[in-house]
This record gives sequence, C-alpha cells and structure tokens, in this order.
Amino acid sequence: MKYYIKTFGCQMNVNDSEKMAGILQTLGYTPTENWEEADVILVNTCSVREKPDQKVLSALGEFKKVKKHNPNAVIGVCGCLAQRAGYEIYQKAPFIDMVFGTTNIHHLPNLLEEAKSGNKAIEILEEIDENENLLDRFPTVRENKYTAFVTVIRGCDKKCTYCIVPTTRGRERSRRIGDILREVQYLVEDGVKEIHLIGQNVTAYGKDFGDVKFWELLKAVAEVDGVERIRFTTGHPKDLDEDTIKVMADLPQVCEALHLPIQAGSDRILQAMDRGYTQKEYLQKIELLKKYIPNIALSTDIIVGFPGETYEDYLETVKVIKEVEYDQVFAFKYSPRPGTPAADLPMTESPEELSKRLNDLINLQKDITFKKNLEYQDKIVEILVEEINQENKLVGRTRTNKLVYAEGSPEYLGKLVDVKIEKVNRFSLEGSIIGGD
Ligand code: SF4
Repeated sequence: MKYYIKTFGCQMNVNDSEKMAGILQTLGYTPTENWEEADVILVNTCSVREKPDQKVLSALGEFKKVKKHNPNAVIGVCGCLAQRAGYEIYQKAPFIDMVFGTTNIHHLPNLLEEAKSGNKAIEILEEIDENENLLDRFPTVRENKYTAFVTVIRGCDKKCTYCIVPTTRGRERSRRIGDILREVQYLVEDGVKEIHLIGQNVTAYGKDFGDVKFWELLKAVAEVDGVERIRFTTGHPKDLDEDTIKVMADLPQVCEALHLPIQAGSDRILQAMDRGYTQKEYLQKIELLKKYIPNIALSTDIIVGFPGETYEDYLETVKVIKEVEYDQVFAFKYSPRPGTPAADLPMTESPEELSKRLNDLINLQKDITFKKNLEYQDKIVEILVEEINQENKLVGRTRTNKLVYAEGSPEYLGKLVDVKIEKVNRFSLEGSIIGGD
C-alpha cells in the first residue's frame, strides 16, 4: 500500500504533510514519488494566492486517472483551501473520497477507514478540535535528515485585512513546551542538527498560556543536547520584543537570520492592512536587531499594489528596502483572496502599473542581495551540509541562510563544516571545505 502527497503553500503545510506521511507510515503505507501507483493520494492545499482552487482542481483532474487502474484508490483533499471551501471543491470534483480541514489531521486514520469502505469521508470543523494535540502521537516523515520543522503555534489572532489564515487556521494555539521539547529530543536522536520552529506567528508563542514567552521557548530548545542551530519563522514585527532579540543574540544556537515581514512601507497602507505598526516602529525593531546582532541577515515579505496604494506609498516601500538592505525580499503583486476583508476593495491601479512597480522593486533587491553576497568573498563561513547534489558538490546553508555549494568529501554530509568562499553568485556562494566537526 503506497501513498503520495502533493503539497501546496507554506512551511506549515509542509510540516502538516510530514505529519500526514507519519500517520500513513504508522498505518503501514510506504511513500511513492509516482502518484500513478499510489493507493492514497492527498492534496494539501493553500488558500493564500489568487485562484488556488483552479490549481488544485487541475491537479485533482490528473490524479483522478489513478482510479482507472486502481478503482479503490483514495483521493483526499486537505489544508487551508479544504478548510475554507472544502464542500465547493467536493461539488466540483465529486470523485474525491476524503476532504478534511486544517484542524482535523489527527482524524486521518478514521477518515481513511471510512473512505476505504466506500463512503465519502468529509470533515471540516468550524471550531478548533480540542483534541488536535493528539497529532503529537504521530511521527513526522522528513525529506531532509539534518534539519527539521517543528510547529510551535497554530493559527493567528492578527487580522491583516488581506489574509485568509485566521479563517483557515483559527485562533492562536501554542503547543505545550514539554511536547515541543519531546519532539526536538526525538529529532536530535534521529540525527537532526538544525531545528526550525514554525508557526503563522511564532513570536506570539505562549500568549494563550498567559505566562510563557517566546524567548523562554528559545532557551528551552537551545538546552536540548545536540541542537546545533535554531531558526524560527514567521515572527510578527509587533510581537518581536527587545527581550527576545537579546536572547537571540545570547544563544549561540540561534542563527543570525530573521524573516520579518513588513508588507508595505507606507503608514496609510499598513493601517489599511491592519498590520498594527507604523514604518517607524518597524524600523525601530530592525535597529534593535542590528544593534544586538550586527551580522544578522534579514528578509521580508512585500505586497505591491494593495488597494489604494499610490505611487508615493510605493516609494515608501522602496525607501525601507534601501534603508534596511535586506538579504532577501519575497515580493508579490496584491491579489484579492476570497473571504478576506480586503477582497471587496476596488483595485486603484492598472495591472500594468503594478507589474512595473513589482519589477522595479525586484530589480532593486537583486542588486542589494548581490552586494550583500559580495561581503562573503574570501570569508570563512560555517555550513550544515544537507545534501550532495548531482555534480557531487556538498550543499548547505550558512547561519545567515545563504545557500552554499562546496567542494569536499561526502563524509561531511550532515556535519557542520567551515567553508572558504571563493565565488559569489546572485543567489548562492561557492567554496571549498577547510575543516569540520
Ligand atoms: S500575521 Fe497577518 S498575514 Fe500573518 S498569518 Fe496572521 S493575519 Fe495572516
């Protein structure tokens, strides 16, 4: 019995898919990379981008063919789009056997049983399932042996007007520290060196408990013997406080890299997005980060062309990019996401104008990224060797999250090694290993 999982979307979805793979393997299924030979196909959907349902429906249209030679194969749809529009998807693709939402993943064994007995298994709960932490009983199955995602908080209490996550993932629910540490311990014993704490808003961790702070979690994870590196995504600028930044600076395991989404530079647009900070407040956080962690590499998300954004507003975003000098920027043209407060707002600029703004911004950032990369020329950096590519190069990332290709022996796989950078590219660095652990 084989399974195939197709994952759309963010790291949270990737981690959910790893969990579902763990459940399926516990049930005796083995993975396949060829969906045509799968007995169970799961499509883990995302609702963040425009028209996600079309992508999902076209994937399902393809996967449906599996039933020609394997009529008992089960096709399931889950994730954010399933949570928001699961019944609609089912109506459009009635051959689906299972549909379940983001908080029902732990019910997968029962749903699968139901589907296999020939019934339609559909479960999309509006309310959060109080038993969702039963999910902790199942292992995660990871592609990467040496780095691992660990979900620390689910959902989001913010109400950014363009975002569907509060609807699809529900209110913030932090996982108990003990459960998180048990998972980290297990991962380390399994060979993981780098722990990547994830959540829609990790910096809000513990607020729902009232007495636990995110920095306490960072300290606790760093104390687990064998954790060499810690990263976390995504932090919200409003919740990132000086105490957390100090702890980040003090803990040697916390990598000098942070993704801090700004979304827009103009205060007017930030307010329309309901982001909860001004440009000045955001830049104050950046200043603190650079003060305590001078070599920190920063990245951000930007939405170009939110309804009402004028050229002057856009220039405020450009100003922030120049001032912060991010290592990486993920920029997108605004597109309305059904079910969000901003979805009904009229677009105020032409698509051509928005494309031009986005291209100009991307080109500006390309130059900044390259300039930042040039600082690595002839420097010695530590990388965690995560894989060996087809050209027999060792592939890893610096603590600042730069992709590095290095000449060296395969015996370094899974190890932290020092690399001398000999060549700088726009999106990667190249060098040779000069020593390792
Ligand atoms: S902080 Fe805003 S953008 Fe991020 S998940 Fe929450 S509502 Fe969405």
